[in-house]
Amino acid sequence: MNEHEFKIKYSIGGNHNGLLNQITKELRQKRPRVPVDLTYTLFEVNDFAQLWLQTKGCSFSKTGSCTCCDYWEGENLPNIAEVFKEALDKLSPNVSSVLIETSGSVFDDNEIPLKELKKIFELLDKKKYKKIVIETHMNTITRQKLDILKEIITGSEVCIEVGIESLSREVLLYSLNKMTVAKDITQLCEMVHEKGFKLIGNIMVGVPFLPLSSQIEDAVYGIHKLFEQGIDYIILFPVNIKQYTLVHWLYQNELYERVYGQAVIKVLNQIDRSLLDRIDVVWYGNRKQENPAYGSDILGPYYCEECSEDIMDFLQKFNSQNDLEGRLNLLDGINDYSCECKKSMENTLENEAMQKPDIYDLLDRYYEKMESYISK
Ligand code: SF4
Ligand SMILES: [Zn+2]
Repeated sequence: MNEHEFKIKYSIGGNHNGLLNQITKELRQKRPRVPVDLTYTLFEVNDFAQLWLQTKGCSFSKTGSCTCCDYWEGENLPNIAEVFKEALDKLSPNVSSVLIETSGSVFDDNEIPLKELKKIFELLDKKKYKKIVIETHMNTITRQKLDILKEIITGSEVCIEVGIESLSREVLLYSLNKMTVAKDITQLCEMVHEKGFKLIGNIMVGVPFLPLSSQIEDAVYGIHKLFEQGIDYIILFPVNIKQYTLVHWLYQNELYERVYGQAVIKVLNQIDRSLLDRIDVVWYGNRKQENPAYGSDILGPYYCEECSEDIMDFLQKFNSQNDLEGRLNLLDGINDYSCECKKSMENTLENEAMQKPDIYDLLDRYYEKMESYISK
């Protein structure tokens, strides 16, 4: 099957993928809302902290966008800056780098009104962190928001983090249903750089409906392309399987497998070595489900018993090592590793290289299954 035939069969026109919208929306509708008293969560590792604030949620999520994402759905907090202060005060004194996030975008006025956002920036400024990262959607980054940020926060390195996931039009349209990625990140980078801030892009490994080799290639391509377009840092993350997402439904129906933790290392090995001090890996372990309304834990990437601890230890050291030479040494060290899941990953890659599956035939098989599920 070619792309044209596939698009006709599933009525995919322009950027609109009705089937993925419908199934993702349907699965998300079943998710429980965030309990009212879970106003924030904290996650700390080494000197890094992640602080999440409850908001009503991402507007794209409500339309059925993004097949691998669940950032929960809650309510906007009337006193969000006060809640933020309470959360911030709970962080360990050794924290020097903080990531702020909501159920969607920190810069979205529909989640955090500007007045409250300014108070949040003021509270952050007082803490004099070395690095502040603000997670938001690309379409919420405006000159006005950046000006306010610049005016209030002084003395910290400020980074804006955006979820890009892939730079392939096909992956964004047929696998992720995320058509909100700016075509060219260059302009966005320029706008952010003008104010003296940095732009971080998230890239995913483990995109659904793709063979493993293509999942790896897609991540490698996206990383190089983003650096070419001027991005400062990349956050590489293996897909985590979360309830109420399409990827979770696929997993339950044996149409998706957990991505190998070793695939992350494979991606790192295919990146231009001079760029490796600008890439961090996140979500590589099993993360606890912090939302008590959910029934099951988040499934992180797959490691065999032999390598699980060692690879996680490697990734933690890799992230906390800022020196390029140090990172290269760590990577070279872990490349000698041999274990059951690495062998199994290499076998899968060899088989794929021999079979060369047609991507639209593959997609067609998955799409037929999804169609029959929603027509029940
Ligand atoms: S990936 Fe980002 S844009 Fe997509 S639903 Fe999740 S929060 Fe929204
Ligand atoms: Zn292993």
